Amino acid sequence: MRAMLRSRAQWHHGTLLHGPEGTGLRRLGLHLAQGLLCRHPDDGLACGQCDACHLFLTGGHPDFRLVVRKYVEKTESSGEPRLRDEIIVDQVRELIDGFLYLTSHRQGAKVVMIYLAEEMNTATANALLKSLEEPPHATYFLLVSHQLRLLRPTVISRCRRVPAPQPTAEQAAAWLAAQGAADPPLLLAQAGGAPLKALTMLDAAYQAERTRFLNRLAEPRRLSVIGMGAEVDSGARAVKKARLQAWFDLLATWSYDLAACAAGAAPRYHPDFTPQLSRLAATVAPLSILRYHRALLRDRALLAHPLNPRLVAEKALFGYRQAVLSE
Ligand SMILES: [Zn+2]
Repeated sequence: MRAMLRSRAQWHHGTLLHGPEGTGLRRLGLHLAQGLLCRHPDDGLACGQCDACHLFLTGGHPDFRLVVRKYVEKTESSGEPRLRDEIIVDQVRELIDGFLYLTSHRQGAKVVMIYLAEEMNTATANALLKSLEEPPHATYFLLVSHQLRLLRPTVISRCRRVPAPQPTAEQAAAWLAAQGAADPPLLLAQAGGAPLKALTMLDAAYQAERTRFLNRLAEPRRLSVIGMGAEVDSGARAVKKARLQAWFDLLATWSYDLAACAAGAAPRYHPDFTPQLSRLAATVAPLSILRYHRALLRDRALLAHPLNPRLVAEKALFGYRQAVLSE
């Protein structure tokens, strides 16, 4: 990564930065963009002192555009603004008409960062292709992606792929300890090794919710699907969505661990629940829990805008009961 930064001449006009969620990719992308616009880059990294850096950090650099999903203009009847599901083609058209082919304001580079690239729909991706293939002079595209497999091959093929640097487990644990984590390795395990995701799990309320939820999964016969459905349905829309997301993530990591234990391996995400997992694993059919886990991952893609959180939660929990009790 450092070597690539050292020389702007080495920068491909289309760079695709990719890595898992929770590893700070957005921050890294912004930092790289700032480095490209900086007047006095130090080893390719932004100096943080020059006028270009100041403009960038205050969000006002005229030669930088960040393309992200936008809010729908009119709010819903509930009064809550809604984020679109996709980056729409108008956003790329605006870029082409009002930014890409105009001379840069500061006689330097122009940078467009697209976050997240997989959120571009087909029309958006197609509109971008030509500019990506033959960009105007000194124009750099920085595409950031958590899920390469959702990206169109035509987009990928026009970019240079750069995997995000991964901190070692020791570096990540030391960093989490500095943020106040009592048990960094456990927290990292819960987050599948992603440090920023682990940091969001440091929250005491989240940990209490996790313990409560996993204890319920550990006792599938006593699990009240209807009761939990009602629970997921209480509160404001954003609260419901966050709870549903957390439950889904826990169901996914728990069922993964259960399948691992059934196969005689150690749990990856919830080592502190090893006794409960082992007990349950002794009674489940490994294939049915594996099938459930895969179905859950597919359904997770539908979670961005669940039409009915309660139904989605109930379906996932019923499926879980069926899979572990072989009902
Ligand atoms: Zn600078």
